[in-house]
Amino acid sequence: MKVTVHGSMCVASGNCGLVAPRVFRNRDENRGFVELLEPEPPESEWEAVREAEYLCPSGTIQIEQHPIPPFDHLT
Ligand code: SF4
Repeated sequence: MKVTVHGSMCVASGNCGLVAPRVFRNRDENRGFVELLEPEPPESEWEAVREAEYLCPSGTIQIEQHPIPPFDHLT
């Protein structure tokens, strides 16, 4: 999974940092606007990242899934 944020679209709601704090941060010194901490989060964070994308009110968060790898035993 690759994550990108379009910072100019962020409205500083803070949802992303609440549901996926290892991937997003909304720092006070940044007035709550998003900071992407982990552009390629481990699989353990994927569900939280998807929830953050769903809850983002401005469409700032974009997710790119890696294609499903081929089955080695079939090649
Ligand atoms: S949820 Fe969206 S709008 Fe809210 S702080 Fe995160 S990126 Fe910005």
